[in-house]
Amino acid sequence: MRDRALLMIPGPIEFESEVLQALGAPTSSHVAPEFIEVFGQALERMREVWLCPSGQPFVVSGSGMLALEMAVANLIESGDKTLVLSTGVFGDRYADLLRRYHVEVSVLRAPLGKTIPLQQVEETLKEHRYKLMTITHVDTSTGVRTDAKFLAAIARKYDTLTVLDGVCSVAGEELRQEEWGIDVVLTASQKAIGVPPGLALMIVSPRAIETWRRRKTPVSNYYADWGNWLPIMEAYEARKASYFATPPVNLICALNVSLERILKEGMETRFERHKRFGAACKAGIQALGLEQVPTDSAHAAATLTAPYYPRGITGSEFLPKVKDAGVILAGGLHPDIKGKYFRIGHMGAETAGDLLATIGAIEAGLQGCGYTFELGAGVRAAQRTLRG
Ligand SMILES: *Cc1c(COP(=O)(O)O)cnc(C)c1O
Repeated sequence: MRDRALLMIPGPIEFESEVLQALGAPTSSHVAPEFIEVFGQALERMREVWLCPSGQPFVVSGSGMLALEMAVANLIESGDKTLVLSTGVFGDRYADLLRRYHVEVSVLRAPLGKTIPLQQVEETLKEHRYKLMTITHVDTSTGVRTDAKFLAAIARKYDTLTVLDGVCSVAGEELRQEEWGIDVVLTASQKAIGVPPGLALMIVSPRAIETWRRRKTPVSNYYADWGNWLPIMEAYEARKASYFATPPVNLICALNVSLERILKEGMETRFERHKRFGAACKAGIQALGLEQVPTDSAHAAATLTAPYYPRGITGSEFLPKVKDAGVILAGGLHPDIKGKYFRIGHMGAETAGDLLATIGAIEAGLQGCGYTFELGAGVRAAQRTLRG
């Protein structure tokens, strides 16, 4: 029997054995020809995964939060006006982060579980000129997905740069950076990209690179300065060695393997699979009579599901029972409802079997807590959606 529970949280996710093998291989020099080839390939593959052929990829040691910081630190200068669209904890964090850079920060905050009306965003952008707007594609604290395509189109109309926090969406949700005209799309390795934690990843549009080049003041975060990293990315892509700070060799090898596997599945197939799995998980949860944080399925994420506990059931009672049934889930994160809901991550290389096992384990947990429902109803509903 496998002695490990299935990790179905919104990152880190279940990683493929091929990826873990690359991570565990002997570490080469960061200037070894084999590694230069791997790094160069990974940068090229990122453009295909992000669907952004003319963008500039960056791969840096750090978590998703570094990617959030790096994206804006290079584009804003003291006194600039910025707009944050917040649909949860990660949007609010972006506002906190921006305030450290002595810029004006306006926040449009959606009510819990909802999105911000596109018309309200347009009116705000029309009223003042904002240099930059941040969008969280999927806020992992609420499971709400924003309409990144339309938001980016509105921002372009008012000549505002867009930064998309795609940590819970890149390589899962439908996302077409170049076609949609988004200036920076950033993520972290441990989510749908499918590589253990440790890499901050982003692709930057030519327009954003140009904005960065025309800065009047130096970037105030030394480690995050694209000026330090751009020559490195360009060198490796040209299959040459270069050094600013030691790259995480094994993680980059693992990234290259994971990107190859993602592209082998194909982006369109992958988007469709995530959509189907997301719908199946939500159908299962609904069939069990549980409410969800997103107020409308039209703006609920494909990469995670955020159900409320039934009345009278707590996470400290329920989650260990689900784990005993073989699946690890995450508790709540949003401060307003922290103890009232839980989160199921379903992104990356997960299979239909993983998803059905997860709904089955949730049923076992609910039954163990004395909740009354028809055993098997969740699995049946999920199965129906999966099989179409
Ligand atoms: C996970 C996550 C982050 C933070 O990433 P870390 O790697 O934990 O720093 C930021 N934004 C979103 C939407 C996330 O899901």
